[in-house]
Amino acid sequence: MEEDHLVLPLSRPAPGAMGKTGTWRNYKPVIDQGKCIKCLLCWLYCPEATIIRHEDNSVSVDYEYCKGCGICANECPVKAIEMVPEVQGGA
Ligand code: SF4
Ligand code: SF4
Repeated sequence: MEEDHLVLPLSRPAPGAMGKTGTWRNYKPVIDQGKCIKCLLCWLYCPEATIIRHEDNSVSVDYEYCKGCGICANECPVKAIEMVPEVQGGA
C-alpha cells in the first residue's frame, strides 16, 4: 500500500491558532464565587483542563482555551456555574 493512501485519524489546531478557542464558542461558563463551595468537581471534570485551581481552591476559567462544552456547569453540585451566551468579539 502506498503511503498516500493512508488516512490517519488525526486532528490538529489550525495553523496560527495554537490551540486557542478563538471566536467560535457559543456559550461560556461564568462562576458565581458567592455560591462556589470549592469542591473542585469542575476542575476534575473539565476535559480541556481550562478550570484554573487557585491556592485557596477557588476556581476560575481560562477563556483562551475553554471550549464551552458545559460539563463544568453540569457537574457543579450547587449550580455555581452558568453557561451564558458569548458576545461576539468578546471572551
Ligand atoms: S465549558 Fe467545558 S471546556 Fe470550558 S471550563 Fe467548562 S468543562 Fe472546561
Ligand atoms: S464544581 Fe461548582 S462548587 Fe465545585 S469548585 Fe466548581 S464552581 Fe465551585
